[in-house]
Amino acid sequence: MPVSLSPDEISALNAHLEGADPATILAWAAERFMPRLAATSSFQTQSVPLLYLIGQVCPQVPVLFLDTGYHFPETLAFRDELAARFGLTVRVIRPDAERAAAARQEALYRRDPDLCCYVHKVLPMQQALRDLDAWISGIRRDQTPERAAAQVIELLPGGQVKINPLLTWTREDIWRIIHQHDLPVHPLLEQGYLSIGCAPCTVPVFGGDERAGRWAGTGKTECGLHTDALQRPPGEGERTP
Ligand code: SF4
Repeated sequence: MPVSLSPDEISALNAHLEGADPATILAWAAERFMPRLAATSSFQTQSVPLLYLIGQVCPQVPVLFLDTGYHFPETLAFRDELAARFGLTVRVIRPDAERAAAARQEALYRRDPDLCCYVHKVLPMQQALRDLDAWISGIRRDQTPERAAAQVIELLPGGQVKINPLLTWTREDIWRIIHQHDLPVHPLLEQGYLSIGCAPCTVPVFGGDERAGRWAGTGKTECGLHTDALQRPPGEGERTP
């Protein structure tokens, strides 16, 4: 079992850390949970400020990259560029090869994107969490209705602590930090990819909701990493392509 926090400790921390500077939250997380702590990142433009801060505050914290096999080549190159520039330790997490091959063979992302995300993202993340006491995510409340209800410090059913240092930041805060520190942006941003994930499920958008280009026209807004899909006990509700 992970070394965890009690519900009372979670409440006290949220009262203390709500609105706190992300660097303060990262420093606390590294002090409290290393070496059983990792961050995740999709290495898109919105990820840059958190990755920059990890490099500044706690570069010893590994950054997990869920490689679905469907990322744009530009994302993989940007990941490597940011890792080198910020001094990050990136660990690539991949889905089960057999399940991924079956999903790819039938282009599962078209027929059942929730199941495709489950195979390529949720299951590998559940596996990664088994070795962790705490996980740093880059979600913000202003991104989706689901994320609006999140807390800075959350307790996952498996006992791990989820830490959301940027939760109270807005899109404007992201851009303020990018401009303030002259940070790089994803190479496909100029083509309208305000938010970017897997290539088959991302289209460019020009203005408006930054995540409107993700699973556009399907009603899907989340891959499952930040919903109860991840929080189900491993095996429960599990399906195969
Ligand atoms: S974003 Fe699309 S391609 Fe990527 S795992 Fe989800 S459904 Fe599959």
